[in-house]
Amino acid sequence: MTYFLCPVCGEKLTEYEKGAVCVNRHSFDKAKSGYINLLPNNLPAGNHGDNKLMIKARHDFLEKGYYLPLREKLCDVLGELTGKTSVIIDAGCGEGWYTKGISDFLENTEILAVDISKDAMKITAKRDKKIKCTAASVFHLPIENECADVLLSVFSPLCESEFERVIKKDGYFVYVIPAENHLWELKKAIYDNPYKNEVKPYEMEKFSFVEKFSVHGVMKPENEEDVKNLFMMTPYYYKTSQKDTEKLFSSPPEEITYSFEILVFRK
Ligand SMILES: [Zn+2]
Repeated sequence: MTYFLCPVCGEKLTEYEKGAVCVNRHSFDKAKSGYINLLPNNLPAGNHGDNKLMIKARHDFLEKGYYLPLREKLCDVLGELTGKTSVIIDAGCGEGWYTKGISDFLENTEILAVDISKDAMKITAKRDKKIKCTAASVFHLPIENECADVLLSVFSPLCESEFERVIKKDGYFVYVIPAENHLWELKKAIYDNPYKNEVKPYEMEKFSFVEKFSVHGVMKPENEEDVKNLFMMTPYYYKTSQKDTEKLFSSPPEEITYSFEILVFRK
């Protein structure tokens, strides 16, 4: 079963070994790694998602397992929300570390993974042939209406109208965000006056709030490389001067707090 739609005409896509095609003969290639590229050709520069370097940093960091408590809790939450024949969309899946964990945990669930970065999709697709992978924007999901029991967004851009469109009636939207104290020591090492993360109110326009789960703890980075990779995953990486960055690496924190919220909404 394929849930992907043609980004040109909106008709259903039929997958074959090397790609996908719609009834109007618009065809799309499948990369060697296994994802289908459904990005428009005229994507503006600077709109291609995370670059290779950032993806590598994230990949290297996540593979160390520092965020395993979050992934495990996420698997439990999704397991509670889904049944045997469920479909989950991972919208903005990045390099697929969470996606793969969920796919292993929920063996009978179909997972559609979407990210705008082709470099990220290459890694995700290679992780697991069972995951249906496409390079596309979460703001224009090339996915059928009301096909997902759950749409998941882990630290990714939010597009309520698109998410509402693809989620089944009474389906769920699971939104993972950093909580107030997330990476506090990292920020303290960089900034003279660090501020806590702002956690916005839970109300959404198109979904009703059901419940939330908190995941928090302290990680002890094994080496400087891990701190650097973690730093590169954050928005501070772009905003921090060379001088402040050096401050972080001259005395990297030995312990760093991680703190997340898993928010569950219903359509
Ligand atoms: Zn078409």
